[in-house]
Amino acid sequence: MAVDSAISSPLGPPACEKDAKALRFIEEMTRNADPVQERVLSDILTQNSQTEYLRRFKLNGASDRDSFKSKLPVITYEDLQPEIQRIANGDRSAILSAHPISEFLTSSGTSAGERKLMPTIKEELDRRQLLYSLLMPVMNLYVPGLDKGKGLYFLFVKSETRTPGGLLARPVLTSYYKSEHFKTRPYDPYNVYTSPNEAILCPDSFQSMYTQMLRGLQDRHQVLRVGAVFASGLLRAIRFLQLNWRQLSQDIETGTLNQKVTDPSLRECMGKILKPDPELARFVRHECSKESWEGIITRIWPNTKYLDVIVTGAMAQYIPTLDYYSGGLPKACTMYASSECYFGLNLNPMCKPSEVSYTIMPNMAYFEFLPHDPNSAGFTRDSPPKLVDLVDVEIGKEYELVITTYAGLCRYRVGDILRVTGFHNSAPQFHFVRRKNVLLSIDSDKTDEAELQKAVENASRLLREFNTSVVEYTSYADTKTIPGHYVIYWELLVKDAANSPTDDFLKQCCLAMEESMNSVYRQGRVADNSIGPLEIRVVRNGTFEELMDYAISRGASINQYKVPRCVNFTPIMELLDSRVVSTHFSPALPHWTPERRR
Ligand code: AMP
Repeated sequence: MAVDSAISSPLGPPACEKDAKALRFIEEMTRNADPVQERVLSDILTQNSQTEYLRRFKLNGASDRDSFKSKLPVITYEDLQPEIQRIANGDRSAILSAHPISEFLTSSGTSAGERKLMPTIKEELDRRQLLYSLLMPVMNLYVPGLDKGKGLYFLFVKSETRTPGGLLARPVLTSYYKSEHFKTRPYDPYNVYTSPNEAILCPDSFQSMYTQMLRGLQDRHQVLRVGAVFASGLLRAIRFLQLNWRQLSQDIETGTLNQKVTDPSLRECMGKILKPDPELARFVRHECSKESWEGIITRIWPNTKYLDVIVTGAMAQYIPTLDYYSGGLPKACTMYASSECYFGLNLNPMCKPSEVSYTIMPNMAYFEFLPHDPNSAGFTRDSPPKLVDLVDVEIGKEYELVITTYAGLCRYRVGDILRVTGFHNSAPQFHFVRRKNVLLSIDSDKTDEAELQKAVENASRLLREFNTSVVEYTSYADTKTIPGHYVIYWELLVKDAANSPTDDFLKQCCLAMEESMNSVYRQGRVADNSIGPLEIRVVRNGTFEELMDYAISRGASINQYKVPRCVNFTPIMELLDSRVVSTHFSPALPHWTPERRR
């Protein structure tokens, strides 16, 4: 029942007193966005005034916006690489942050093929936790009764390593799930998960997924929402069910646990929960053995009210498949976050995916916005960019997000392009447009044009033996299969027809390309099984000329025409696919280990 709140919130009415407090906090932050931002900047600059970084730019203890903006440069990860490397190597002096760097968060964004290392400090966990605590109070405004059941969330930890200086390096969610904040969270009826902590924390992705799915099946009537962080993760879970439902129903029938689950803590925890349930086993077999899996999510979990997955940005490509498996359930995109900083939340989470806007919470960091002009050549030291403050962005305009964090990133370009769609009080709301320079993405992998070019070069070197070269190429992220995979279209010049490259050889070219991809791609292939084998489709000679003719017939200028290095426009795909003469898949997994190459 809704609780009457003395200060009625425009976001209300809240579902309970705890929610009322959270909603009041959102109102307070968004009403006072500018003073909050000013205070956040002043806190950060005061806290870090003695750091090597701020001293280098002669801030002399100033904590005001004008000094900050006039003295500190706007930077990218590469600019900070020397400092990051020193911290990684064990230098514990106050380089970027006055507080000790507690660990590195490994971003899915890469630099020179390896995940970027984002320094973080202990107190950032509280800030992340605070943002998480706002999500359900907002969701409860739109979906009543979520305290009457559970959430089936597929959540995973990934491998972690240590830097040469001994600091942990791991993804932000791994850090969060392993924290006491998560592990010993107090009971909250609105946040009950079917997955036990032991399953979420199991580092083996098969064992983790298996037990999480088993628990989800056991609690199928109680499940009110089904989710994963990204859409690709939820589809991977559905694929897992397709591959493993026989064994899962066997376990349900007998009340025993698959021998492949060997993790002792998992066996112990599941041993207490598993009881023979022949009726449920029959039901699972009946549903999963049907030829069509359309609507499988609502068939198995009939009380699901929405899917909780991010389907904005690169994940939008999965919307049709999610709709197919869920019978078109609403898809809630609740938050926008990164390893560098958690940014904000969606105040209208049940809206259509195309209408999702995230409200940046002004207490999370100091935010600036670089007007985004796709035609500009960039900026130089002589013509520094004019950055706009959070409350000064204009509706309809696009900006690149620049952040200054408590952990010591100063005027750091995140690389995300956002468009302003409106305001909640004085806090702007943003549509996530895209991440800069990403050509191909299946899961959290992000491959840019230079990386693809390098991969094609490395693979085509192998072709010399056949006196063959790659004349042109383009690419496509094929998400029709689960997991999705990269498709590279090649037009070849075979100089000696009697000695043209064999299928086996072209398969090796696929693998060579995969070996050249960045570590996030290779981890997706090897450890997470979130990306399928790369495919080369050889097209017949003249195809890329036809592609150009097509583009020109649609108004492209002959002089300025460039071969698109990634395609997804249906007529172009159809043209390319109709010219395919052979297809070849990578025959093996590329190399990947948790250790960084540098
Ligand atoms: P990572 O640093 O690996 O945590 O990745 C963070 C990046 O993921 C962000 O900078 C965005 O590019 C992307 N991302 C995070 N949340 C969202 C979202 N809600 N919608 C679209 N993209 C997102």
